[in-house]
Amino acid sequence: MALKELLNEYEAVRLRQRDALQKRTQEAYALCPEFKEIADLRKAALMELGNVMRSGEDPKRIHDKLSTYAAREKQLLKALGLPEDHLQMQYDCPLCKDTGYVGEARREPCACLQRKKIALRAGQGDPNERFENFDETLFSDATQLARTKKAREYLESFANEFPNTRWQNVFLTGAPGLGKTFLLNAVARRVSERGFTAQTVCAYNFIRDVVAGFSAGEDRLGAYFTPALLVLDDIGTEPMLRNVTVETINALLNERLARGLHTLCATNLTTEQLKERYGERVLSRLIDTRHCCSIKLEGKNLRMV
Ligand SMILES: [Zn+2]
Repeated sequence: MALKELLNEYEAVRLRQRDALQKRTQEAYALCPEFKEIADLRKAALMELGNVMRSGEDPKRIHDKLSTYAAREKQLLKALGLPEDHLQMQYDCPLCKDTGYVGEARREPCACLQRKKIALRAGQGDPNERFENFDETLFSDATQLARTKKAREYLESFANEFPNTRWQNVFLTGAPGLGKTFLLNAVARRVSERGFTAQTVCAYNFIRDVVAGFSAGEDRLGAYFTPALLVLDDIGTEPMLRNVTVETINALLNERLARGLHTLCATNLTTEQLKERYGERVLSRLIDTRHCCSIKLEGKNLRMV
């Protein structure tokens, strides 16, 4: 299941690249109609090539035509200051052309697929952070222990019932050091061991990644739309970029809700602080009681005990 979902991600990449090529092509045609003429000539020459090959004629004439078109296209691109491969399909991974596999006779997993598998596992944090290792002896306060155990029980059943959970999303709040990240990682691990894709990312890295994508001309937000479970930790630590941060988080939450995918969010901020930082709209998405179960941890910082 996890592999199948990774392969779905590859398909999403291919679709994104195909759309991007279409967009570049249309823009180029608008900028310089000769690109369209060349494309039409090329199409005709390729059809002719098919006929010539079937008839057993020497195809050199056609190959010459095709090279002339390619050269003219290259010349035009250069004159317009566009990259040579502007009108060609681009790949996130040129090795496997975003299929995840290389090799003709024997297909083998591409290095990028291996990396994704590792990242998927590594993305679930410390391997010791799992429900089985929940350590009651860390708690000196009985009320705090009872409260945290209740949260743990709920989250463990969430992970066991996944994806058929009562609530689509979970919102976990509480001051630092109460064990939020431990619980989130435990959920991600269990969900992934049950065969679903689970990705954990802290809000800081999430926003940095999406913004780095802007400068690389890539839409990286889309990658966060696909895992069956996304754990967004430490909301409130990310940089507040005008017209970016709030909009991106809102888009993420909306899209995942619309796709019926589960999102687990955690923050050290209080409801008041969240409202001030993100505004009413995002806050109501985060804690919307129709889709979301809110859990609040309270007590002493366990790291200090
Ligand atoms: Zn690859």
